[in-house]
Amino acid sequence: MSIAIRDAIIVTQNRDREVLRGGDILVEGDRIAQVGGGRVRDSVDMEVRVDGGAIAMPGLINTHTHVAMAHLRGMLDDIPLDTFLERTFRLDAERTERGGLYNSAMLGIYEMLSSGTTTFVDLYYSEDVIERAVEKSGIRAVLSWVTLDPDKTTQRGDPVKNAERFLSAVHGGDRVKASVGVQGIYVASDEVYMKSRELAERFGTVVHTHLAETRKEVYDFVKKTNGGERPIEHLHRIGFLSNRTLAAHCVWATLREVKMLASAGVTVSWNSVSNFKLGVGGVPPPVPEMLQNGARVTIGTDSNGSNNSLDMFAAMKHSSLAVKNERWDPPSLLTAQQILDMATVVAAESLGLSEVGEHFSWEEGRHSGTEGQRPEPLPPHRDGECSEQHRLLRQPPRQRGHCYGGRAAAEVRWQAPQGRRGSLQWPPLCVSICILRRQCGKYFNTISIGCRKSYELAGS
Ligand SMILES: [Zn+2]
Repeated sequence: MSIAIRDAIIVTQNRDREVLRGGDILVEGDRIAQVGGGRVRDSVDMEVRVDGGAIAMPGLINTHTHVAMAHLRGMLDDIPLDTFLERTFRLDAERTERGGLYNSAMLGIYEMLSSGTTTFVDLYYSEDVIERAVEKSGIRAVLSWVTLDPDKTTQRGDPVKNAERFLSAVHGGDRVKASVGVQGIYVASDEVYMKSRELAERFGTVVHTHLAETRKEVYDFVKKTNGGERPIEHLHRIGFLSNRTLAAHCVWATLREVKMLASAGVTVSWNSVSNFKLGVGGVPPPVPEMLQNGARVTIGTDSNGSNNSLDMFAAMKHSSLAVKNERWDPPSLLTAQQILDMATVVAAESLGLSEVGEHFSWEEGRHSGTEGQRPEPLPPHRDGECSEQHRLLRQPPRQRGHCYGGRAAAEVRWQAPQGRRGSLQWPPLCVSICILRRQCGKYFNTISIGCRKSYELAGS
């Protein structure tokens, strides 16, 4: 199947971070065949016309969530993290029905696809159930089976063995990758951390963990070690941290610890909205220092329990504002472009996704047979003007997808070549493109083109 997306403003995220005005995008099968090369051929199966100007850009990557908690939106408000964890562990223990996990995962996936996210990294148990939702929906995912001490879990059996079984069972296709996770230092011994690291090495994947999220976590650990070490220092000393580590939060990190994260090659997932909702501490994580020292920083939403949303545009905006406010707004400290990079190319590189250069960064090489037709890049933005990158953060697009009666459907208006008009149920194809439509100068809609056919939530 082929799709032409006509006349979009294209935020390429290529090496020069060019923005192209008025180009087409051609999708063939599950590949992005041409980007920004003027008008692509007329003989396509489907045209997506974007009225009034629209941005098309690579899909976003959410590097930390727990998608099967999507149903918990609004159910865990006004409580600190330790109470939050107690309640979620209890809710998980009560949730024995696997269909509930599946439906929740579908709901979360739908929310991500309808707000521009086409890849996510999950941390949970029963990732085999979530994998089925990922396969069905067409989204891309790295699924980290969470481990912790056997006496502190609601999982049946040994969590490390469960993770190993999951890693062995998922052979790794183009869209679904298996990984291993560790819940956090408050429920996992050194042995669990190191076994998980070994699994990540053996299976060539990421090891995903919560780290230094709250002051309580840090102080409790310091107390436990008789004032010896903080969590990041400890995991660095025992050799857990490496370039396979994806560490969510890292809010309570000293400059010394930031240097440890950077030297070990750790990727940080910054979950600004979740941190603020749970009130984890006085300041955002030291992101400017992380960047100055060479640590890779990406963006996550965390779960709907601690965020009430899986919207990455909202997360990007919040992250940007949090640092500007905390640092008294040195404007160049963290730019809109850097934030967009965290949510696309940096995340893709960190996760070792093979689609780098295709789905998350549309390079010159993606243009085929378009010599001389390439649209002019927009000039760099000047004082008093608003770049497309700034626009994306200034006005996060509102979702237009609907979820009603248990049935998920987002509409794309389209016109078939033979003149038929109709609306298409989300999602039609398996590529990572996020389209943001614009009306009255504001982006009001995102459409993620995600998979081959529409679906209904199970049990609806
Ligand atoms: Zn989390």
